[in-house]
Amino acid sequence: MNFSWYVAMSLENVNLINLLEHANIGVVIHSWDSQIVYVNPAATKLFNTSVDNLQSRHKSLNGWEFIDRQNRRLHPDEYPVSKVISLNVSITDEVIGLVDEPTGEVCWLSVSAYPEKSNGVGFVVVYFTEITQKIADFSFLDIVQSAQDMIIVTEAESIKGPLSPQIIYVNDAICNLTGYSREELIGETPRIFQGTLTDTQATTRIYQALAEKKPITETLLNYTKTGTPYWVEMSIFPLKNQFGEVTHFASVERDVSAVKFHAEQLNTRNSELRDIRENLEELVSQRTRELRNVNLKLEKLAYFDSLTDIPNRRAFEEDLEKSTHFATRHKHSLLVGLADVDHFKKLNDTYGHAFGDDVLVAIAKSMKQFFRQEDAIGRVGGEEFAFCMILPGSHNPEDILERLRKRVELISDTLPALKGYNVTISIGAYYVNDIHLQTKEMVSKADEALYQAKREGRNRVSLIRQEKIEFNSVS
Ligand code: GH3
Ligand code: MG
Ligand code: MG
Repeated sequence: MNFSWYVAMSLENVNLINLLEHANIGVVIHSWDSQIVYVNPAATKLFNTSVDNLQSRHKSLNGWEFIDRQNRRLHPDEYPVSKVISLNVSITDEVIGLVDEPTGEVCWLSVSAYPEKSNGVGFVVVYFTEITQKIADFSFLDIVQSAQDMIIVTEAESIKGPLSPQIIYVNDAICNLTGYSREELIGETPRIFQGTLTDTQATTRIYQALAEKKPITETLLNYTKTGTPYWVEMSIFPLKNQFGEVTHFASVERDVSAVKFHAEQLNTRNSELRDIRENLEELVSQRTRELRNVNLKLEKLAYFDSLTDIPNRRAFEEDLEKSTHFATRHKHSLLVGLADVDHFKKLNDTYGHAFGDDVLVAIAKSMKQFFRQEDAIGRVGGEEFAFCMILPGSHNPEDILERLRKRVELISDTLPALKGYNVTISIGAYYVNDIHLQTKEMVSKADEALYQAKREGRNRVSLIRQEKIEFNSVS
């Protein structure tokens, strides 16, 4: 006698209707044409109406409002009893809401139903329990399922195996971003998302952490099903069972492609700006160098005589001004002079204007050699030169002037084309050891002396001394 035969024998003696009357599970039995033929008290209580009402007023379930978990009103064909009748199948734990018409309150039921044949007559047995309280509690699974962040759960075993760790759960966000379906991902490994440019150092760090069952956060380049790369910031942490053993890993991932992209753009832009700035700095310093050179040239043009390359009138006047201040301050003597080429017109006429130029250049050169760095010289007219010397202590200015005259006379030897023609100069100068005149006045004193030298026959020196206004001529 086996066990099931024993149970069957015993059940024959059990009053099943009595059992249904006392069970706290709701039972409704329909005839094959969906008419209600039996309602137990638990069902009556759940439907909040009397057995008479239920059986007389609602012969069928037409007129009852049922909804699904998405609050969609069910068509009568979708009622469990209808499905059992039309498909001749069983239904297990289907969640259905019964809407209370006047209040709109929903009583949530977990409904099962199966077809029953008894003596050739067909019935549908529907049984249910109320789960309103359970439904009312929010579901963490729903939150995870609909979260914007991507969530993957993998097993924690054999992390390094070719198909490990196995994915056992992915939420909608994963499928939406990667293009993989849930069915394609379950049983796979998260390596499915990695590709050629995924940083292997980062993945090594991840597998290291998983092997040690430690949490880890990484930013990784992943790929969608069609191969489009995207950046994810992932936070992986172990999940433990009730015995404290790590059984799974959960990974919460966020698509940070836009942030990465903007950061990269910003980097590129910054390095472009850096390049532009460096180029600009180089350009500015190059332009500054050029400008300085141009300024130097302009300054030279403004202060130097282009033929003889010694200071021009303007430069000489400025230098004279400075020398005068210096001599005044230090109570030194000052010698201001003018040297004019004798009969230069004739020389031009005889040897040509270009040769005349050569003579002027030679005179300027010999003057440059004659005077010291601190003296001032200049070409102040066509064939007229000026000079100024600061003379500390006692000097004989006539000696200086005479030496200058003779020095210039020597240039004739350096110009063979002159064929014995002697280039001479006349010098007029003003010597002062207690300066009380303006520079212009001193120059005109020198001019006065020059005029005197010319008048007295040229090729000579004429000096006006400040202390005794008299002309000394030496030939
Ligand atoms: P004096 O002895 O009285 O000074 O006679 P001079 O001929 O030297 O003086 P004048 O003022 O009569 O003539 C000056 C000449 O110098 C006239 C001019 O053609 C010439 N001259 C002026 N500037 C230049 C120049 O840059 N180059 C040349 N070759 N000749 C010049
Ligand atoms: Mg002259
Ligand atoms: Mg002259």
